[in-house]
Amino acid sequence: MVRIGIIGGSGLYHLVENSKLKKIDTPFGPANVYLGMFGGEEIAFIPRHGEKHEIPPFKVNYKANIYALNMLGVERIIASNAVGAINPELMPGTIVLPHDFIDLTKCRDGTFYNGKTEIIVRGRRIKGVVHISMTPYTYCPEIRSALMSAANQLGIHLVDKGVYVCTEGNRFETPAEIRAMSIMGGDIVGMTGCPEAALARELAICYASVSIVTNYAAGVGGEKKLTHQEVLDIFSRKLEDLSRLLASSITLIPRERSCVCKDALAEFIDH
Ligand SMILES: [Zn+2]
Repeated sequence: MVRIGIIGGSGLYHLVENSKLKKIDTPFGPANVYLGMFGGEEIAFIPRHGEKHEIPPFKVNYKANIYALNMLGVERIIASNAVGAINPELMPGTIVLPHDFIDLTKCRDGTFYNGKTEIIVRGRRIKGVVHISMTPYTYCPEIRSALMSAANQLGIHLVDKGVYVCTEGNRFETPAEIRAMSIMGGDIVGMTGCPEAALARELAICYASVSIVTNYAAGVGGEKKLTHQEVLDIFSRKLEDLSRLLASSITLIPRERSCVCKDALAEFIDH
């Protein structure tokens, strides 16, 4: 059994050396998962945008990716993504561990529970109308805690809270949209965090994500506009930190889950 899955965002296309590609057919479509050793154990890695960044955020098959990890028995997912800063204090290059999100996507399929597909989670069949809860923790507290401890041990600056706003894309936001998101309480903005986080919760899989700020969002931090290349340059400089952070956090994630994420489906399991 593979207990940990990592979903890599922009820039993170190869994490595991000598990995083996496993093509998994799920009820929601195929997923490419790379299995290999990382952080001292075998993990499952999915480059969210494909190996060559060929899949745009709105075309990512979030359901197939998460369900494929579920089929492998994964109980913990750590995701990474590139974000823009709504909060001007989060300079490009800052690494943020969001504690909550606001989902502003419009056209994505955000649930496994469509009333037709049979969902199997760790051998249990889930039935009925399922509305999972995102409280008291939107993201897994045990993974977040392991990431914070790993950052402290490695001397990597990790901002331990932030509200992640997810947009549909593909375009970047307008200055008015960013002002609105700021009033709503958003700190960082990206295009891939949702519905991914909630889909993991729907299968009672622990999920947390690490966001690298690559640029200021529209209208934040002055008039300077970053090109896509500048965004990738800042991100690539932080990739080494991110990779070390992920590897060390794996060694700190408890084997037995004590967090509430594991009970997300307790009332819906078909006994
Ligand atoms: Zn958890």
